Amino acid sequence: MALTSKKQKKPLKKASTSKKLTSGKKYVYYFGDGKAEGTAQMKDLLGGKGAGLAEMTNLGIPVPSGFTITTEACREYFSLGKKFPDRMWEEVLNNLKNVEKSMNSEFGNPENPLLISVRSGAKFSMPGMMDTVLNLGLNDETLKGLIKKTKNEKFAYDTYRRFITMFGSIVTNIDRKKFEDLLEEAKKAKDVQLDTELDAKDFKTLVKKYKELYKKETGTNFPSDPYEQLRMAIKAVFDSWYGDRAATYRRLHGIPDDLGTACNIVAMVFGNMGENSGTGVGFTRDPSTGEKKFFAEFLVNAQGEDVVSGIRTPLKIEELKRRMPKIYSQLEKICNKLEKHYKDMLDIEFTIQEGKLYMLQTRVGKRTAAAAIKIAVDMVNEKLIDKKIALLRIEPEQLNQLLHPTIDLKAEVKVIAKGLPASPGAAVGRVVFSAQDAEEWVEKGERVILVRNETSPEDIGGMAVAQGILTARGGMTSHAAVVGRGMGKCCVVGCGEITIREEEKCFTAGEITVKEGDYITLNGTTGEVILGQAPLVMPKLSKEFYTIMQWTDELSKLKVRANADTPKDARVARDFGASGIGLCRTEHMFFDPDRIRAFREMILSDNIDQRKKALDKIKPYQKKDFIGIFKEMKGLPVTIRLLDPPLHEFLPKTDEEIEILSNEMGVSIRRIKSKIKALEEFNPMLGHRGCRLGVTYPEIYEMQVRAIMEAACELAKKKIKVIPEIMIPLVAHVNELKLMKELTVKTSEDVMKQYRIKVEYKVGTMIELARAAITADQIATEAEFFSFGTNDLTQSVFGLSRDDAGKFLPFYIDNKIIEDDPFITIDTEGVGQIMEIGVKKGRKTNKNLKVGICGEHGGDPKSIEFCHKINLNYVSCSPYRVPIAKLAAAHANLKGKGAEVIKSTV
Ligand code: ADP
Ligand code: MG
Ligand code: MG
Repeated sequence: MALTSKKQKKPLKKASTSKKLTSGKKYVYYFGDGKAEGTAQMKDLLGGKGAGLAEMTNLGIPVPSGFTITTEACREYFSLGKKFPDRMWEEVLNNLKNVEKSMNSEFGNPENPLLISVRSGAKFSMPGMMDTVLNLGLNDETLKGLIKKTKNEKFAYDTYRRFITMFGSIVTNIDRKKFEDLLEEAKKAKDVQLDTELDAKDFKTLVKKYKELYKKETGTNFPSDPYEQLRMAIKAVFDSWYGDRAATYRRLHGIPDDLGTACNIVAMVFGNMGENSGTGVGFTRDPSTGEKKFFAEFLVNAQGEDVVSGIRTPLKIEELKRRMPKIYSQLEKICNKLEKHYKDMLDIEFTIQEGKLYMLQTRVGKRTAAAAIKIAVDMVNEKLIDKKIALLRIEPEQLNQLLHPTIDLKAEVKVIAKGLPASPGAAVGRVVFSAQDAEEWVEKGERVILVRNETSPEDIGGMAVAQGILTARGGMTSHAAVVGRGMGKCCVVGCGEITIREEEKCFTAGEITVKEGDYITLNGTTGEVILGQAPLVMPKLSKEFYTIMQWTDELSKLKVRANADTPKDARVARDFGASGIGLCRTEHMFFDPDRIRAFREMILSDNIDQRKKALDKIKPYQKKDFIGIFKEMKGLPVTIRLLDPPLHEFLPKTDEEIEILSNEMGVSIRRIKSKIKALEEFNPMLGHRGCRLGVTYPEIYEMQVRAIMEAACELAKKKIKVIPEIMIPLVAHVNELKLMKELTVKTSEDVMKQYRIKVEYKVGTMIELARAAITADQIATEAEFFSFGTNDLTQSVFGLSRDDAGKFLPFYIDNKIIEDDPFITIDTEGVGQIMEIGVKKGRKTNKNLKVGICGEHGGDPKSIEFCHKINLNYVSCSPYRVPIAKLAAAHANLKGKGAEVIKSTV
């Protein structure tokens, strides 16, 4: 007994595990006749297309019956070494039976054949996945049934030749052109233009030729068994997941490699059955403007991708309204229903078979930034969504599209070549041919366009400083294109019409030669290369744009200020809704030739009297700028940083410059040179700069404070509100700040006494050295505000020189040693942690401490999210990024509060 029971146990156990393995899994989900096993939420398992088909079916929208093989089946197929998982095929056959019942026909039945389409569909729609095979199930026998059923021989043979073309080219990789050439021959022989002008006999001949071609190319007969066709097509769908194009696309878009694709099998409906049939694609609203208007194109007597393939020019949807008004209004109703249900703009694909409408696909539609904004605002007004969801629907970075200048359409321009429009916007600059030249020219104050055959990671520095990038080679996913888009930089790639002669530093476009230093203009939206400087215009922002900006104010905690050094920048910032200036760099006010002279005099002074005299010359300039900025900011706070860079940066560099200065100042060349030598530093970044200058030359800071406060007092007298915030840079020790604060307060009080008026002002400091962050509790006793200077902080915490990192940092990022460039996105684990310490310690001793950030990171959405998390009061970024930062600040506040859950269901 014992023995037998033992014997029995083993096989039993085996059976039960294998049963468990299979019974728990369901590889196939059916949809048809108003009921589907899947839903829109099941995108992971059914892919986007499958989930959409299921949802539409459940909504009672007419969809031909079919089923979806899951992404899980695809993943198992690969882990089994490209074999269908157990039972999958069985489930496919069972579901095929259901489709047969629903469609009242039979797969492979020569009397009454069911035809199907086989369609790939991953979670994210992805170019590179297998194209759809239509009309599967046809062979010489079932063809007869199709003819009998439809009494339309031309249609049947057209369908058959389409099937062989698609199967041959998509499943077995025969060059599609070989099929098309045969088709062209047939049209030529008959002297007709359109495929539809061929007759049954022509198609019949083509089918024969196609089969011969198939045999020649593959060495086997065209598979006549429909089940064999189906098996091959499903395998091809799965295999396409790891195809080169799909893999590249995933890498570029950060889509994981292990998701797999679903495979959809759908009963065929035929748009190629004559004049009351057709096929089309569209959007529920205009995807480029967002206008609430059904936007679609269609073709009569056509099938599948005829509309997008360009073989015939599709008709506007208004034409459908004229020809088939009933169908049109049904389509409109379906669009409304879908929008109400998904609460978003959708794209759709449909087919009309002999006056009956079928929907074949829907998904959330891609749109431009302008459309995204309009649709979001409209849908709030239509009470489809609330403001929170509206904001979350718009990607902050996407706004970049709207904030770039564009070429004035009214201007006449000379287009000399055209490439691929890789990154939108427009750029004007002088041509340079190497990244190094780009950097050198920009240093000298030039605007440049970097022109290369193609770019590589070593060119990053030059790309970053150029206005735009033009390459002769490479496609939309080339290095230049990807990096250009990432930087939000106008970029035209693959411009084969230009020939670059690097040796001679010129390029030619047809007859025209463009030399180094010549001006060109790029149009990144059209790919055009224009000779000379085309006039640019700032795009007009819609009223919906301003509505969105207003909502970001209501729904964010973080405020957004701008980094602005001139009244002009200040105005841009205010127009975009900045709530103040977070960083005004006073040294930028000296780049003007007149001003730099006075400044050099100051640096070269031998004694304090001389220096004060020079400073007196500078003060009026500073004061004038401050007045301009204060006026533009209309009572919003303005943080002004006192002089930060080492003095030698302002000195003349070339012999020629030194000679001019020597003449102007009546100081010998030798003396100037020896002064320059004396100011030279081994490590200027860590040298005599920031408040160290103020500590050793207090008269410089005193002059600056005077200029600020005089400007403020003058305006206050005219009843213009001003809030100056004076910021001391590069403080490491509380005593430095203490000294500089005393100087600032004393000078300010002096000025106010002199003007007999009180102005509210603040004194604070930048936190950009680790020591300052770690001793923030001490520093905060002297500071009314902190502003994290994360450029320097990253350099000092990371021990990484921003100016030298280009040699190795790209390697680090490419090889995933670090995830992001720490100068673009805050290194939260290191630099970020130091910031967090600074915030906490600072607020411990000064609970009213205002804390902001003014490094480049202040405009980076990921970094903004971090700033929100550590409770900063504001971020400050370049004026043109203010809208992006405002939206990112709102996102940071809304994320994790349930709003995005709704977003992810569609
Ligand atoms: P893509 O992912 O490229 O959009 P689809 O699988 O949506 O590919 O197929 C492309 C087109 O083929 C559809 O828009 C539709 O016109 C046509 N199509 C797909 N399946 C069927 C079907 N069962 N009946 C008729 N047409 C179909
Ligand atoms: Mg396609
Ligand atoms: Mg489609």
